Amino acid sequence: MSAEPVPAAAADATTAPARRYSFHVEEPCEGDRVAKFLEAFAAVLEYTDYKALLDSYCTTSAKCNRCAVTCPVFQVTNDPRDIPCYRTNILLEVYKRYFTIGGWVSSRFKSHFELTDEVIDEFAEVLYRCTACRRCTQECPMGVDHGLMTRLGRYVLSLIGVVPKALQVSVREQLEGETHNTSKVPQKAMLHTLDFLSEEMEDILGVKMDFPVDEPDRDFAFFCAVSDYLMEPDTLMGNAAVLYAAGDWDRWTIGTDNFDGINYGLFYSDWHLENIIKRLLGEVDRLNAGKILIGECGHASRSAHQFVPVFGDRERYPVLNFMEYTYDCLLKGKIELDPSIITERVTYHDPCNIARSGWIVEQPREILRAFVPNFVDMSHAGRRNYCCGGGGGLVSVDEIHDFRMEIGGRVKAEQMRETGAEIVVAPCANCKKQLKELVEHYKLPCKVMGLHDLILKAIVIPGGKSPAERKQEAELYA
Ligand code: SF4
Ligand code: SF4
Repeated sequence: MSAEPVPAAAADATTAPARRYSFHVEEPCEGDRVAKFLEAFAAVLEYTDYKALLDSYCTTSAKCNRCAVTCPVFQVTNDPRDIPCYRTNILLEVYKRYFTIGGWVSSRFKSHFELTDEVIDEFAEVLYRCTACRRCTQECPMGVDHGLMTRLGRYVLSLIGVVPKALQVSVREQLEGETHNTSKVPQKAMLHTLDFLSEEMEDILGVKMDFPVDEPDRDFAFFCAVSDYLMEPDTLMGNAAVLYAAGDWDRWTIGTDNFDGINYGLFYSDWHLENIIKRLLGEVDRLNAGKILIGECGHASRSAHQFVPVFGDRERYPVLNFMEYTYDCLLKGKIELDPSIITERVTYHDPCNIARSGWIVEQPREILRAFVPNFVDMSHAGRRNYCCGGGGGLVSVDEIHDFRMEIGGRVKAEQMRETGAEIVVAPCANCKKQLKELVEHYKLPCKVMGLHDLILKAIVIPGGKSPAERKQEAELYA
């Protein structure tokens, strides 16, 4: 195994509880689950491109266990069932035994792997202990993508109804519910929220800006995680402040038919992933917008960035994460950030979906360096980051909170503590939720914010109050 230095929590792994967990399932599968699992697997193999990948992985895995040392879950539990290739091998064993000639022939002559109810239960549990962060993939000399194998395994399980209820309900609400968003926010309530935020921004910034809604033919159709409207409004107001300060207020719009950028299909079902992408494209078409602008959300950005070109058209629907837009504004001198406002020590958490599995590493750091004099990186920053512990959709599954705190997020908590930062910037709705819970659980002396929450404090607004004046007011009312 390689000797990658790991944060103290992982080195102290033997003290951590290696408890198992289960999650609530919405529609438990009845009858012969083994037959149904194999039927579902056969259908996935027939209608997708996974077969070639499985054939390749069956012949390449070196069983070297290098992947184990990089996995934040295994680092904490030391449980062999948390070794990345352990769970991938379950899938490969099923594939070899039931879908290759060699596996079928050898099963006739000697005792061989058999799929049972117990194997399915074990498989479901280990797959939902993985945050799909893909850290292990960087280490594998053979290039085995365990995050992708986790997704494939979850996809097959979802076809026999084995999927955490929280994920299933959210997706159903987004695709089939009346509100078309994962938090079931009615459109009317969303519009009221925008009115309220307009007033709030006028109070804070000193200028009136009404959020553009259902405006046709704009350059940007904007989609953030729906939680930004309710629980993280500073992030949304920060986004709006940049558009206003850059002189781009007339270039964007929010759509009322589909305003939630979340796509939990990315974590458990390619079929839902595709349908949610198509819904999003339908809204872009309805608005006749030029580009898709995604707010601060890692998986929303990655799912749109990677899969709009697959299910739509790269040229017709360019996808942009908001940090790219802000960075571009900064480079072009369209916005000004006051470097005297944020005096605290600040660090940055890389969301796995946009750093390791994406394309955004330096842009947010360049923005932070432009106005945060006391910025410090975490150990293992950028593409070698550690997951927050709530990735792969786990953050939305409340009944595994203890797992997320004690196991999945333990290394991350230690990383945050090591920096001595007072503010941890996490530009992702899911990461923010998980990290805030970690701060509370481990009593860390820091707070978690979005990048645009900080920008909201430091941005210079033409014709508005100065950042210094706003800071003074905020301190007065604190
Ligand atoms: S994807 Fe992340 S959590 Fe899953 S096995 Fe690999 S390193 Fe561990
Ligand atoms: S999956 Fe890759 S890193 Fe893990 S044991 Fe196999 S070859 Fe080694």
